[in-house]
Amino acid sequence: MKQITHAYINGDWTLTKGQERFSVINPATEECAAEVTMATAEDVNLAVDAAKKAFPIWSNTPVAERAKYLNAIADEMQARYDDLVQAHVISMGCPVSIAGAFHVDCAIDAMRYYGELAIASMDKVEERDNILLTKQPIGVCALINPWNYPLHQLVGKLAPALASGCTVIEKPAEQTPLADYIMAEIIHKVGLPAGVFNLVFGQGYEIGPIMAEHPKVNMISFTGSTRAGIEVAKNAASTVKRVCQELGGKSAYIITEDADIDAAVRYGIEDVMGNTGQTCNALTRMLVPKSRYEDVIKVAKAVAQEQVVGDPTREDVTMGPLASEQQYKKVKEYIEIGQQEGAELLIGDGEKPESVDKGFYVKPTVFTKVTRDMRIAQEEIFGPVLCIMEYDDIEQAIDIANDSEYGLSSGVYAKDKAAALPIAARLEAGQCYIQGSYFSMYAPFGGVKQSGNGREWGEEALHEYIETKAIIC
Ligand code: NAD
Repeated sequence: MKQITHAYINGDWTLTKGQERFSVINPATEECAAEVTMATAEDVNLAVDAAKKAFPIWSNTPVAERAKYLNAIADEMQARYDDLVQAHVISMGCPVSIAGAFHVDCAIDAMRYYGELAIASMDKVEERDNILLTKQPIGVCALINPWNYPLHQLVGKLAPALASGCTVIEKPAEQTPLADYIMAEIIHKVGLPAGVFNLVFGQGYEIGPIMAEHPKVNMISFTGSTRAGIEVAKNAASTVKRVCQELGGKSAYIITEDADIDAAVRYGIEDVMGNTGQTCNALTRMLVPKSRYEDVIKVAKAVAQEQVVGDPTREDVTMGPLASEQQYKKVKEYIEIGQQEGAELLIGDGEKPESVDKGFYVKPTVFTKVTRDMRIAQEEIFGPVLCIMEYDDIEQAIDIANDSEYGLSSGVYAKDKAAALPIAARLEAGQCYIQGSYFSMYAPFGGVKQSGNGREWGEEALHEYIETKAIIC
C-alpha cells in the first residue's frame, strides 16, 4: 500500500505536519490503496510562501522558456502514461480501456497547447491611441480540484497558470491524490524552479478555507460542488482575490421530433454513462418529443444494455464502479427517491451487477416519466442515471431545459446543424453540444447561474490567470 507522508513544497518533498491519515479506497475492491497524511495550516503557509517567493522569478522568465518547461512536463507525462492511467483505475475505478482517452490524452495535449498560446499572446501589447495594454500574470494561485477528473482538472488549471507566469499551490480531492502525486514527481524531474508548483494533500473543509482566505494568494480556482464553491467565494471575499468557480450541473439535452433518433439517443446514453456518470457537464436530462417517446425508449434501453459494467482492470469493461462509497450511497438514494416521486425505471434497479460481489457498482439506470418538479430532475445525482422527460413542443422543451438552478452545459440534436443552432442559442448554459459533438479543450468551459463563473479551457482559461495593465502615455 502506498504511503504519502510528504507534500511537495518549494521544489522538495516535505514531511507533512498533520497527524490525520486519509485512506484512499479502491472502489472496485473496497481495499485501501494508499494512506495520505493530511496537511495543516502550517503546510499551506509554507507552500504559499514558496509560491510567493518564486513568483518574481517565474513571471520574469521569458515566455518561450516557460513553454519549454510545459513541453518537458508533457514529454514526461507521456513517459509515465501507464502510471497516470493506473492512478485513475486504482483511485476512482475508471476502466483501464478508457482511462487514457478520458483522463490522460487531453491533459498531455493541454500542457503543450497553453505553452504555445502563451508564446503567441502574453507579450503582445495592444495600442489604443495613447494607451498601451499589457498582460501580467495575476500572482500566486490556489487550485482546488474534485475527484471525478483528477488529472484533467489539475492540468486545466495548472497549464494556463504556469504558461501565463503564475505560481501555484494545488490541493487535490482527498479520494484521488495519486495522479497529482505523479505530476509532482514529473515536475520535480523536469526541474521546474523551486516554489513554482506546490502540492498539499488535505481535507477540503480544513485547509480549503485557509487557501481561500490567504492574503498572499491572489486568485483561487475551484472545481467541485456548488456548496463548497459558495464557501470558497465567501472565504475569498475578505482579501478581494479573483475567484473562478467551476461547479455542478444538471444539463438538458433536447432531441427534436425530426432528429435521427437512433443516433441522438445513443449519443445521450453514452454521454451519461461515460465515467460512470461522474461528469459535471453530463447531459442528464434528456428532453424528447411525446410523439417519438416509444422510439426513444427502445433505443435508450438497448444502448444502456450494451454497457459492460464490472472490474475496471478488465479490457472489455466500459463502466466501472462509482468512485467512492459515499457516492455509491448518494446515487442509490436518488434511485429510490426517483421511484418514490413516481418516475419509472426503464432499466437499472440500484443494485450491483451480478458479475461482482464487492465494489461500489450501480447498473446503468434510466428513468422515464420524469417531470420537472421532481428532485431527480432538479438535483445533481452524479452517477449513471439518466432522466427522460417528455415535451409537447419546442417552446416547452426550451422552458423545461432552462428551468434549473444550474447552467453548465446543454445539448441539442435536431434534423441538422442549421436547425439545432437557434435552439442552442436559447439555452441558459456555458456550453451547448449540437448534433453529437464532444468536449474540446479549445472551447471555453464553464457555467452560468449556480454552475459557476469564470472559464477553463480554450484561450479564455489563460485570461483567468492574467490582469490587464494600462500604460497611459
Ligand atoms: P466537493 O465540493 O465536495 O469537493 C471538491 C474539492 O473541494 C475537494 O478537493 C474538496 O476537498 C474541496 N473542498 C470541500 N469543501 C471545501 C471548502 N469548504 N473550501 C474549500 N475546498 C473545499 O465536490 P466533489 O464531490 O469532490 O466533486 C463533485 C462536484 O464537482 C460535482 O458537483 C461536480 O459537478 C463538480 N465538478 C464541476 C466541474 C466543472 O468544471 N464545472 C468539473 C468537475 C466536477
